[in-house]
Amino acid sequence: MSEIKTQLVVLGAGPGGYSAAFRAADLGIETVLVDARETLGGVCLNVGCIPSKALLHVAKVIKEAKHLSSHGVSFGEPTIDLDKVRDWKDSVVGQLTKGLSGMSKMRKVKHVQGYGKFTGSNTLEVEGKDGKTTITFDNAIIAAGSEPVNLPFIPDDPRVIDSTGALELADIPEKMLVLGGGIIGLEMGTVYEALGSKIDVVEFLDQLIPAADKDIIKVYMKTIKDKFNVMLETKVTAVEAKKDGLYVTFEGKKAPSDPVRYDKVLVAVGRKPNGALVAADKAGVTVDERGFINVDKQMRTNVSNIFAIGDLVGQPMLAHKAVHEGHVAAEVIAGKKHFFDPRCIPSVAYTEPEVAWVGLTEKEAKEQGVNYEAASFPWAASGRAIASAATDGLTKLIFDKDSGRVIGGALIGTNAGEMLGEIGLAIEMGADAEDVALTIHAHPTLNESIGLAAEIFEGSITDMP
Ligand code: FAD
Repeated sequence: MSEIKTQLVVLGAGPGGYSAAFRAADLGIETVLVDARETLGGVCLNVGCIPSKALLHVAKVIKEAKHLSSHGVSFGEPTIDLDKVRDWKDSVVGQLTKGLSGMSKMRKVKHVQGYGKFTGSNTLEVEGKDGKTTITFDNAIIAAGSEPVNLPFIPDDPRVIDSTGALELADIPEKMLVLGGGIIGLEMGTVYEALGSKIDVVEFLDQLIPAADKDIIKVYMKTIKDKFNVMLETKVTAVEAKKDGLYVTFEGKKAPSDPVRYDKVLVAVGRKPNGALVAADKAGVTVDERGFINVDKQMRTNVSNIFAIGDLVGQPMLAHKAVHEGHVAAEVIAGKKHFFDPRCIPSVAYTEPEVAWVGLTEKEAKEQGVNYEAASFPWAASGRAIASAATDGLTKLIFDKDSGRVIGGALIGTNAGEMLGEIGLAIEMGADAEDVALTIHAHPTLNESIGLAAEIFEGSITDMP
C-alpha cells in the first residue's frame, strides 16, 4: 500500500478530468490524476468521440469514392480490410492518448492507475494493477464520466453490443439493428452501413436525434432514406438470442408483425452518470437517484473542497462541456473568480451528412415564449454546395425579433459541425442579424449560407451565390 499527499486529486481522466488537472498544474497546484484505464483520455479518446470519428472518416471516403462515378471518375467496389480499418482507428487513439501522457508528464501531473473510491472528505483509496494507494488531498474534482445504459430485457449475448463494442469492429454484421435513434447510434450506424451492413434504426420518439431542430431532421430523413430503415414511434419489447441470430420483437407505429432476425443489435439508448460508483457518500457528497452530482456555477458540490465536472453533473453529456467545466473547477481551486455560464453549448452528430445545432431550437424558442423569427437558407441555392455535390443541406438561424440578436442556429450538410462555430460565437458575442449579414464571408463557401440566412431575416437578400 502506497500513500500520496497532494493538493488536488482529479478522479477520472476524460476530457473533463485531464483538462482540469492540466489547468490546475499550470496554475501551480500539485495534482494527481486517477483513472481506472491505463491510458488517459477517458471515454472520449479511448471509446468515444475520437475512435468514432476515425471510423466515420473511413465511411465518408467510401461514400465519396462511390459517388464520384456520377462525376466521371470510377474506383470500383471498395474492398474492406477490417484489420487495417481497426489499426487505423487504434493508431489515431494511440497517437492522442500518447500525446496526453506527454502533456501530463510535462506538467508533472502524477497519473495513478486504478479504480478510486472516496473514504472521507480528504481521502481516496485507489486499487490498481500495482496494488492499493491511499491519496490524501486538500481538494478533489470528481470527473468519473458516464457509461452506456443497458436495457434489462436484453439478453447477455456477444451479438448485443454497446458503442464500445461497436467501436471494436469485430466484424461487419450483415444485418444490424440500431436500438435508439440518437447521435451515438446514428454515427455508428453510418459507419457500419458504409462498411456494408444493412441497418434498421428503431426510435421510441417521433424524431431521430430528438433534441435537434425538426426542419434539419426533415432534411436528414430525406438523405438517409436509402441507407437506413427507420422505425419511429416504435419500441423493442423483446430480444431472443437464437443460434442463427437475435430475434427482435417490436411494438408501435412501424413495428413489423413478426420478430425480425438480426446478426447484431447495437444498444444506444443513452448514457448514465457514474456518480454513484465512486463512494461519494463517504465524502459527504450528495448523489441523486440517477447518479448525477449537483454542483453550483463554480462546479462545487455540497462539500466545499470537492468539485464535480463532465457527464456526471448533467446534460448535455459532451466532451467540450466537460473541458470548460474542468477549467472552471481548476481555476476556482486556484483562487480565481470564475464560473460556468455559457450562453450555449454546441451539439453535433457527425453522421453523413452532419447535423449540428447550438442555442435555442425553434421548438425551444416557442416553448419559452420568445418573440422569435427563423430564417433558413437551403444549400441547393449555394454555389459551393452545388459544386461539391452537397446540396442536401440547410442553414437555419433563429433570431430574437425584438433585438435582432442570433439566439440559435442549426445546420445539416457536409461539415456542418465545423460551420457551427460561427453561430455559437455570434450567440456568445450577442451579435445581431446585421453583424452576421455584414460580415464578409468568403465565396464560394458553405459558410456564406450563414450570412445569407441573416440577410433573409433582415429582408436585405439581393442575390444568391
Ligand atoms: P469520461 O470521458 O467519461 O471519462 C471518465 C473517466 O473516469 C473514464 O476514463 C473512467 O475510466 C474513469 N473512471 C470512472 N470511475 C472511476 C473510478 N471510480 N476510478 C477511477 N477512474 C474512474 N462527445 C462530444 O462532445 N463529441 C463527440 O463526438 C462524442 N462522441 C461520442 C461517441 C461515443 C461512441 C461516445 C460513447 C461518447 C461520445 N461523446 C462525444 C461523449 C463524450 O465522450 C463524453 O461527453 C465525455 O467523454 C465526458 O467526459 P468526462 O470527462 O465527463 O468523462
